[in-house]
Amino acid sequence: MLSLKDINVSFDQQQVLKDFSADFNENQTTVIVGPSGSGKSTLLRTINLLNYPTSGTLNLNQTSFVFPKQYPAKEVSHYRQNFGMVFQNFELFPHLSALGNVIEGPIQVLKQSKTAATEKAKVLLEQVGLAQKADSFPNELSGGQQQRVAIARALAMEPEFILYDEPTSALDPELEGEVLKVIKDLAKKRNSQIVVTHNLNFAKEIADHILFLEDGQVNYYGLAEGFFSSKNERIKNFTKKMM
Ligand code: ADP
Ligand code: MG
Repeated sequence: MLSLKDINVSFDQQQVLKDFSADFNENQTTVIVGPSGSGKSTLLRTINLLNYPTSGTLNLNQTSFVFPKQYPAKEVSHYRQNFGMVFQNFELFPHLSALGNVIEGPIQVLKQSKTAATEKAKVLLEQVGLAQKADSFPNELSGGQQQRVAIARALAMEPEFILYDEPTSALDPELEGEVLKVIKDLAKKRNSQIVVTHNLNFAKEIADHILFLEDGQVNYYGLAEGFFSSKNERIKNFTKKMM
């Protein structure tokens, strides 16, 4: 289990996460929703320690970080291997083919042989429906295809959790569906996923749990059904506006 306890994150004078506590279970899909600026991206970046909390505790299985203590870079980068990140703007390596993007991490970081990494990458590209595009470069792929390569690349590192930050916000509606389908398949296979999205219809389809973040604090965290049938005025207003 991934556990955050009393986490505070600030930038300059602005406190973004405020005594934030939540546990994230493995083999589930948790969807984080909330208004722009509520701290959703900051939360994802804090989970994999791209942001450092000013105080609080972060636990994943046997690993524990207690802030504001400083930790060696090696310990932090080892911890980060538990997380794969999928960004709004795909952020593929432009000079590598789809296959090249997927095998880069396993070869460089996990020290897999090129043969083994390639074999596995082909299976993953097949899984995201891109077996035919293995040799294409990012600029030869649509946004939806690029994002599916990015998901295959994240999976290739065999992380504990995949973190998605608005994975379809940069896509036209007709390309959004193909990416959502891949994330939905992974949810069905009980991959461990934490997904930030504004698409509440999609959230409803894939989420085991919903975390509603407002102003750096948890407004709702529980079963998705409970969120979408909530009588709470704030939640009702938010879902009405977004769906
Ligand atoms: P969301 O993803 O929910 O839209 P963010 O986590 O991106 O929200 O941002 C929350 C707040 O933190 C915003 O006010 C934003 O300006 C601020 N913020 C985020 N990252 C930084 C940063 N690196 N430096 C300064 N302020 C930041
Ligand atoms: Mg954001």
